[in-house]
Amino acid sequence: MESGNGAMSDAMNFDEPEHVRMLRDQTRRFVAEHMPRAKAREWDRGNIFPREVFDKFAALGMMGLTTEERYGGAGVDIYATMAVIEEIAKRSVALACPYIMAVCYAGMNLGESASEEQKETLLPKVAAGKLMFAYGLSEPNVGGDLATVETTAAREGDEIVLNGAKRWCTGAHIADYIFCLARSGPREEKYKNLSIVLVPADAAGLTITPLGHLGIRGVETKDVILENVRVPAANILGGPEKWNKGWGQLAGRALEVEKLELSACALGLAEAALADAWTYAEERVQFGKPIAHHQAIRHSLAEARTKVQAMRHMLYHAAWLANNNRPCSVETSMAKLFCCEGAAEVSEQAIRVVGAYGLSDDMDLERYLRDAKSLPIVGGSSNMQKNNIANRLKLGA
Ligand SMILES: Cc1cc2nc3c(=O)[nH]c(=O)nc-3n(C[C@H](O)[C@H](O)[C@H](O)COP(=O)(O)OP(=O)(O)OC[C@H]3O[C@@H](n4cnc5c(N)ncnc54)[C@H](O)[C@@H]3O)c2cc1C
Repeated sequence: MESGNGAMSDAMNFDEPEHVRMLRDQTRRFVAEHMPRAKAREWDRGNIFPREVFDKFAALGMMGLTTEERYGGAGVDIYATMAVIEEIAKRSVALACPYIMAVCYAGMNLGESASEEQKETLLPKVAAGKLMFAYGLSEPNVGGDLATVETTAAREGDEIVLNGAKRWCTGAHIADYIFCLARSGPREEKYKNLSIVLVPADAAGLTITPLGHLGIRGVETKDVILENVRVPAANILGGPEKWNKGWGQLAGRALEVEKLELSACALGLAEAALADAWTYAEERVQFGKPIAHHQAIRHSLAEARTKVQAMRHMLYHAAWLANNNRPCSVETSMAKLFCCEGAAEVSEQAIRVVGAYGLSDDMDLERYLRDAKSLPIVGGSSNMQKNNIANRLKLGA
C-alpha cells in the first residue's frame, strides 16, 4: 500500500538516476585514461588545447546531452550534462571549457533559440562534437551591464555588417562561431534593438588576438575584433525575424544553464582540491604524527568537506529544477554564488592545509587556485547573482 511517507520518500530521493551514474562512470574512466594528471599539468604549462582528446570524448556520444533526439542528440538532460562537466572539472576546469562551448554555448542556445533551419543544420554537428561556440558578450567597456554593448550590427540587404570589439571571448581561437551580442538599432531603448549573430570565427574582417590573464590555460580567453565583418542575415540567432530581439534570447533556460555549468566547474575543482589536501594530510608527518591528527587541520578539512557537500546539493537541486522546466532563476543564482565562492575558498584552504608543497608546481593545488579565481567573476559576478536573488525575491518591492 502506498503511504504518505512512501510518496514523501519518493519525492525526496537523492539517488542519482542510473543513466547519470553510468555517464559519470564513463567520464571518470575517460578522464583517468585520456586526461591523466600529468597530461593536465603539461597542457596547463604549455597552454595547449588537446583537440584529439576532445574528439575521442565526442566519439563516445557525450556531446549530445543538450540536443533533442530528432537532431541527433541523446535528449536534453541538464542534470546529466552537469555531472559530466563536474567529472571533467575534477581534473581541470580548462578541459571542461571546450565541452561547455559545445554542449552548453552551442547546444543549449541553439536548442532554445535557433530557427528550425538552424537547428537542422547545426545541432547534429553539436551532437557529433563538431561545433563549438565562443561567447562574444563582454567588451572592453562592457562587463555586467551587457545591454550597453557597443559592437554594432547593421542590415544591408540579405547581409549583416558587424563592427566592434569583443573581450574575454573564451576559446575564440578553437571555436567555429562567435555568439555575438550586438547593438542593431538605436541605443535609446536599451534592452530592445539588440541582436545575437552567429559569426564564423574565420570570417573575413574578424581578428582574434591574445589577452594575457590568470587561469584556464589551454583554452584561454581572447580579444575578437570585428571590422566590417559580413555574414548572411540567416545567421541571426532564430532567423531574420529575431532581428532586434536578442535580449530575450539571452534569458531563459540557456542562461540558467550558464550559471549551472560554472557551478559544476566549481564543484569539480573544489572536490579535486579537497581530495588532494585530504590525502596529503594523511601522509605528511610533523611533530610525530600525520598532520591530519592535528585538530586545526581536521577542522579545516571537515569544514571544506561540509562546504563541498552543500555545493553539490545546491547545484543538483537547481539542475533538477531546470531539467524539469521549473522556475529556477533564484536557485541557479544561489548555486552560482555559493559554488563559485566556495571553490575559491576551498582551493585556498587546501593550500593552507598542505603548506609549502601546496604552492609547488609538483602538485595541482596552485593550478586549482589559479582557475578558481575567475569563477566568482565570470558569467555574472557574485554581486550580480546577489542582485538577481534579491530582485527576484522582490526585496523591498
Ligand atoms: C577568465 C574569464 C573568462 C571569461 N569568458 C567570457 C566569455 O567567454 N565571454 C564573455 O562574453 N565574457 C567572458 N568573460 C567576462 C565575464 O563574463 C565578465 O568578467 C563579467 O561579465 C563581469 O564583467 P567585469 O568583470 O568586466 O565587471 P564589471 O561589470 O565591470 O564590474 C566590476 C565590479 O563591479 C561590480 N558590479 C558591477 N555592477 C554592479 C552592480 N549593479 N551591483 C553590484 N556590483 C556591481 C562587479 O561585481 C565587479 O566586482 C570572462 C572573464 C574572465 C575573467
